[in-house]
Amino acid sequence: MEESFAKKPNPGEPWDVIIVGGGPAGLTAGIYTARGATSTLIAGGEVWGGQLMVTSLVDNFPGFPEGILGPDLMSKMRQQAQHFGVEFLEKNVEKVDFSKKPFALTIGGEEFLAKSVIIATGAETVWLDVPGIKKLIGKGISSCAPCDAPFFKNKVVGVVGGGDSATEEAFYLTKYASQVYLIHRRNEFRASPIMQQKVLNNPKVKILWNLEVTEAKGEEKLENITLKNNQDGSTQELKLDGLFIAIGHKPTSEIFKGQIDLDEKGFIKVTGGHGKTNVPGVFVAGDVMDPYYKQAATAAGSGCAAAMDALKFLDEEKI
Ligand code: NAP
Repeated sequence: MEESFAKKPNPGEPWDVIIVGGGPAGLTAGIYTARGATSTLIAGGEVWGGQLMVTSLVDNFPGFPEGILGPDLMSKMRQQAQHFGVEFLEKNVEKVDFSKKPFALTIGGEEFLAKSVIIATGAETVWLDVPGIKKLIGKGISSCAPCDAPFFKNKVVGVVGGGDSATEEAFYLTKYASQVYLIHRRNEFRASPIMQQKVLNNPKVKILWNLEVTEAKGEEKLENITLKNNQDGSTQELKLDGLFIAIGHKPTSEIFKGQIDLDEKGFIKVTGGHGKTNVPGVFVAGDVMDPYYKQAATAAGSGCAAAMDALKFLDEEKI
């Protein structure tokens, strides 16, 4: 591969592009902007890499016919971005000010200036909002089977949800647990057919239809949960060693409130096509603007589009 393309700005000068977020969208954007010879800083966050860092085998990202582990894929993307001269900070962005130019971002307590910004902060776990869940997170309740499944060897676990995440978590857990209950509030899954087959055909998985978790109980650790049948109103207790919540994700957009247009669910609004927001010079990519596809491949694609829009913007503004 070629030598580094992007150069750092001189002290006190703004970066051409600051990318907020170090998942597939942010890193792909960085590969494009740095390769486009613009100084590029990625504020990847203290926990960088996004949701793929807590995923096991990714077998639907193009280019890896045997599949690749999520963290390995992210590591390769980061290496590729840094190869082109991206400066990568494992720090959180605490504040942004898009009202002045250059834009100002507080990253790890320090102010950075940017001529353009790409927001790629992704999405985070939605926890069940019922008594007992919050206090037992890390004490039997988790949202990440690839991280925590080994703690449940030969134990009984539950998974809540009916989408790809829930079926994937349940399937993963069968490698360790003796029994996996997949608890879904309806009587059909929204997961893709291939994932449905994987859990329906696995003898370790028992599907519990039309049931909602109404409470998680336990002091030092999870002991049991209460389930309510939403067809007949009956309730039952289920003894569990572990409970994995996989009911979806919400966009990570809190710090942009008041600075940029968000929709009612907190997704950043795309205005005027592709990755443009309502603030000229601020672009968006990945799960923080995508309530629908939410795939690593679509995140990477939108990161590329946002980067190309940012390069065009910098060129047109001649700043
Ligand atoms: P999702 O598709 O939105 O599914 C969420 C599931 O949780 C739904 O079955 C929903 O039930 C249930 N749910 C939501 N709120 C609930 C509540 N309060 N109580 C009980 N159940 C609740 O989310 P996801 O599974 O995280 O997937 C998100 C996206 O990522 C999807 O596009 C998916 O295809 C993608 N994904 C892809 C892969 C892969 O390709 N390898 C892996 C994981 C995720 P209802 O069905 O009744 O609404």
